[in-house]
Amino acid sequence: MEKEIKCRLCQGRAELQFEEVKLSDGRITIRDPPYYKCLKCRREFTTSEQMTELSGQISSKNGKKPE
Ligand SMILES: [Zn+2]
Repeated sequence: MEKEIKCRLCQGRAELQFEEVKLSDGRITIRDPPYYKCLKCRREFTTSEQMTELSGQISSKNGKKPE
C-alpha cells in the first residue's frame, strides 16, 4: 500500500491515514481501516476506492497502456 498518492480531484497530495478509537480510558484501541486524505482539498479516500483503483490497475495491464 502506497503511503502517498495523487488526489484525483485536485492532483494534490493524499496521505495514508490511520484512525484510532480508544475505549475504556485507552485500555482498548480499535483501529479503523486505513484511508487516504488529501492535504489540499481534504477529500478522504476510502479503502473501497483503493480496491477499485487496484482492480483498475490490473485490468489496465490486459492490453491497455497506463498513462
Ligand atoms: Zn485533493
